[in-house]
Amino acid sequence: MEKYKVGIGYDIHRLVRGRKLVLGGIEVPSGRGSLGHSDGDCLIHALIDALLGAMGQGDIGRLFPDTDPKFTGVRSTGLLADVVARLKKKRLVLVNVDAVIVAERPKLSPHINKIKKSLAGILRIDEEDIGIKAKTNEGLGDVGEGRAIICWAVALLRK
Ligand code: MG
Repeated sequence: MEKYKVGIGYDIHRLVRGRKLVLGGIEVPSGRGSLGHSDGDCLIHALIDALLGAMGQGDIGRLFPDTDPKFTGVRSTGLLADVVARLKKKRLVLVNVDAVIVAERPKLSPHINKIKKSLAGILRIDEEDIGIKAKTNEGLGDVGEGRAIICWAVALLRK
């Protein structure tokens, strides 16, 4: 019998001047970018946690500790590819992922298709099996004031 496993992931990063804003492996033009030990790719970090959650395997901090200099400035796409390889090893099939990006600016809708394409290549699933929604926080709180970005993600795996 087929068995399905779902996982959820969440991440938040500070947005600061002088950093790039990388989402799903794509650099999005922005006055502020995400602060982080790695490239600060909030979307990929949430996706990694969703995948690890579905696999029942801890979280991104345990797998790629930010105390390890090996991961300083690392591209998050590489970390995601590593997790996808772990899925394959366990003979788990990724069915689909869905994500929500919450950021006041920049406007993300013009970049969603490019982000999807980037993720499809790493996750090795069709673009139609990737959902990405971009929302603002209606001006509320740190996200609303442009000082932070939040991402949520879910992933479904089939054994
Ligand atoms: Mg993160």
